[in-house]
Amino acid sequence: MIGPGKTIGVLGGGQLGRMFAQAAQSLGYRVHVYEPAGLSPAASVADCETQASFEDLAALETFARQVDVVTYEFENIPAEPLEAVEAIVAVHPAPGVLATCQNRWKEKAWLRANGFPHARYVEALDGDIVPAAAHLGLPCVVKTADFGYDGKGQMRISTGEDLARAAAIFRGRRCVVEQWVEFEREISVICARTEAGETRTFPAAENIHTNHILEFSIVPARISASVEAKARVLAESVADALGVVGLVAVEMFLARSGELIVNELAPRPHNSGHWSIDACETSQFEQQVRAVCGLPLGPTGARNPVVMVNILGDAWSWKDGVAIGEPDWAAILAEPRARLHLYGKRTPQLGRKMGHFTVQGTDIEETLSAARELKARL
Ligand code: AMP
Repeated sequence: MIGPGKTIGVLGGGQLGRMFAQAAQSLGYRVHVYEPAGLSPAASVADCETQASFEDLAALETFARQVDVVTYEFENIPAEPLEAVEAIVAVHPAPGVLATCQNRWKEKAWLRANGFPHARYVEALDGDIVPAAAHLGLPCVVKTADFGYDGKGQMRISTGEDLARAAAIFRGRRCVVEQWVEFEREISVICARTEAGETRTFPAAENIHTNHILEFSIVPARISASVEAKARVLAESVADALGVVGLVAVEMFLARSGELIVNELAPRPHNSGHWSIDACETSQFEQQVRAVCGLPLGPTGARNPVVMVNILGDAWSWKDGVAIGEPDWAAILAEPRARLHLYGKRTPQLGRKMGHFTVQGTDIEETLSAARELKARL
């Protein structure tokens, strides 16, 4: 066990690292953030910061010697530097887990090899997109194999014209072409797993995306108890099969056919778990601390219905590409059922996650309406 008072190293300095650091510090840990960019959300709350690139092996090794365990909050970390860190100090989840989840080719192949339900897909390089789409049928979606997030690096194809455009845009890039899933709901389940193999899932969140970016997470998800139970078992099976120590978020489609289909895996805290800070017995960030440090896992019940709303840079007023006015924070702060979380990012950008808020209630439909109204008043 790595007990309170020890230092946890975090690779990546975004909002996930910031909220992780805050949870770790509440339990008495020190947090050392490693992040290439200055003024990062996580470094501004951490005990210690290394600002260096992920390719800087010397800086990574120095960092590794200064901490007692390492975790990460960001997936696009190259595998070799992570292995160099692992040679010095334990890294959770293991670099091999990250390597599987950070590349869509590997992730899909892993799902297939391990018998987990996934959308039909074809691996494609330049020019392969057209035959791949012909094989799968339209509509389908092209996704770059690596370095995609929040819908970046993906395009839905529903017509021959889309296909021609996509073939030009994705030329020369490693991609997967995937069958479009007609889904009833999108949900995600976050599962924590310890080194001893104990697992614990959070309740499923129902996720609503707009322009491929998460807009609302709704807990409880509006699905049947049997689908919820199946989704939680599926997430546990994924965590076991991957051998995760830490968290894994499993994004799924509930298809119109009633089948659960795994879309994506993320071996870290997840945007769809932010509700847990305000409305769960243990937050996903505290659970990550517990799992990577070998502490007992915490209980994961939701106290009451809750809706999480992402706040993007789009909530600012914009003129000629310049943010000129801040959102009306008072609208949220004046609502006793709402809680505001801002990430301390200095420059808003369209599509950039600047913070989130949650609204709690007793009835999920009423809570969702209240959350939509508050969002409109920002
Ligand atoms: P991803 O980056 O794979 O998580 O995709 C972002 C979002 O795009 C998902 O949450 C879905 O809303 C949508 N999406 C991605 N792939 C598919 C698919 N095969 N069928 C239907 N919707 C999809």
